[in-house]
Amino acid sequence: MQPFTPDHETFRKSVRNFVEKELLPHQETWEREKGFPKDVFKQLGELGFLGIAYPEELGGSGLDYWYSICFFEELVRCRMSGLAMDVMVQTEISTPIINVLGTDEQKQEFLVPAIRGDKVGALGITEPDTGSDVANIKTTAKKAGDDYVINGAKMYITNGSKADFITLSVRTGEEGHGGISLVTFPTDTKGFEVGKRLEKLGMDSSDTTLLFFENCRIPQRYVLGEENKGFYYIMQNFQGERLGAAVTCVAEAQQMIEDALAYGRERQAFGRPILSFQVWRHKFAQRMTELEAARQLTYHAADMFVKKQDCVTEISMAKLLASELANQIAYDCLQFHGGAGFMREYDISRAYRDLRLIPIGAGSSDIMREIIAKNKGF
Ligand SMILES: Cc1cc2nc3c(=O)[nH]c(=O)nc-3n(C[C@H](O)[C@H](O)[C@H](O)COP(=O)(O)OP(=O)(O)OC[C@H]3O[C@@H](n4cnc5c(N)ncnc54)[C@H](O)[C@@H]3O)c2cc1C
Repeated sequence: MQPFTPDHETFRKSVRNFVEKELLPHQETWEREKGFPKDVFKQLGELGFLGIAYPEELGGSGLDYWYSICFFEELVRCRMSGLAMDVMVQTEISTPIINVLGTDEQKQEFLVPAIRGDKVGALGITEPDTGSDVANIKTTAKKAGDDYVINGAKMYITNGSKADFITLSVRTGEEGHGGISLVTFPTDTKGFEVGKRLEKLGMDSSDTTLLFFENCRIPQRYVLGEENKGFYYIMQNFQGERLGAAVTCVAEAQQMIEDALAYGRERQAFGRPILSFQVWRHKFAQRMTELEAARQLTYHAADMFVKKQDCVTEISMAKLLASELANQIAYDCLQFHGGAGFMREYDISRAYRDLRLIPIGAGSSDIMREIIAKNKGF
C-alpha cells in the first residue's frame, strides 16, 4: 500500500528541508554533548510539527495521521534517533493521553503549550523494580484532603530533566492493574526531583533520567480520566507509541541501507567496488525485501489505527518485526562498512547502538510476542 497523497509528499518535503537545514548540521555536537537545546521544541512547535493531528481549536493542524508518519519518517534523517525519540515522547506518547482523557482545563494547561513547543512533556511508567510488568508499579498517590501525595520513583524517563509536565502512573488503589491511576502535573511541584542523567549505550542525544517523588503534593484535579482506570489508559496509549516505534525503525533501516549502498559503490576491495560482490548484492536484496514487508505491515497497522479498528495485534506485530529487523539490518550494514563501521564518525555505528533500544522499550519483543499469542488464542 502507498498511503501518501501529493499533499502528504509536499508536507514531507517541508519536514525534510527543516531537518536538513536546522537539525542535521548539529548532529555531531548534540550527540557529543548528549542533548539538544530545548529551543528545538519551540522551533518544531512554530512550524506546526508538534500538533500535526491535534484539533485546530487546541492549536493543532487537524491533519490526518499519515502526516505524522511522514513527519517521523523524515525526522530520523537528522541522524539522531535520540532527538527523534524525545520529540516522539512529546507528540505520540505524553500528549495523546491528555488529548483523549483531559478536561478542558488540563488541555489548556498542558496540551496547548506542548503543541506550541512552550512546554515539554514526559511519561513516567517504568520504575526501578518494574518495567514490563506495568501492573506492578509501587509509586503511590494517597489522598489528603483535595490533594494526592505522591511517593516513589520512576526509571529511564525520556525528557526526564527537561520536562515541564509529566504524566505519571501511580497506585491509588488495590494491588494489581485495578488500582492504577494516571496523573499529569507540572514538574516544578515541590517534592518532584530529577535524579542523575543516565549513561546509555546509545540514543545519546536523548534525555533519560531517574525521577523521585517525595511527598509530592498535587491537586486531585490533575487526575486523568477516571481513578483506577490507569492501566487500561496506558495500554491504549501504548498503541500510538508502538506504531511510532515501528515507523521510525522502518525509516531508519531504509536510511542505513541507502548509506551502505552509497558506501559500497565507492569502497574498493580486490580491484572492485565491494557492492559488486554477489554475496552483498544478494544480502541487500534480501534485506530490502524484508524491509518492504515490515513497511507494509506497519502501514497496514497504521491504516487500521486511523480507522479506529482493533489493531493491537497488528501494531504489536509491526513493532516486533520492524524493531528486530532494523537491528539485523544495522548489524549487516555495519559489517559491510568494515572497520569504518566501528568508528563513531560513521552514522552506522550510531544507528547500530541507538536501534538496540527499540526491541526493549515501549514493551519488549517478548511482550509483543506474548500479546500476539494471547490475541491469537494460545
Ligand atoms: C533509553 C530508554 C528510554 C526509556 N524511556 C521511558 C519513558 O520515557 N517512560 C517510561 O515509563 N519508560 C521508559 N523506558 C523503560 C522501558 O519501557 C523499559 O525498559 C521496558 O518496558 C522494559 O522494562 P524493564 O527494563 O524493567 O525490563 P524487565 O521488565 O525487567 O524485563 C527484562 C527482560 O525480561 C523479559 N520479560 C519480562 N516479562 C516477560 C514475559 N512475560 N515473558 C517473557 N519475557 C519477559 C523482557 O522482555 C526483558 O528481556 C525507557 C527505557 C530506556 C532504556
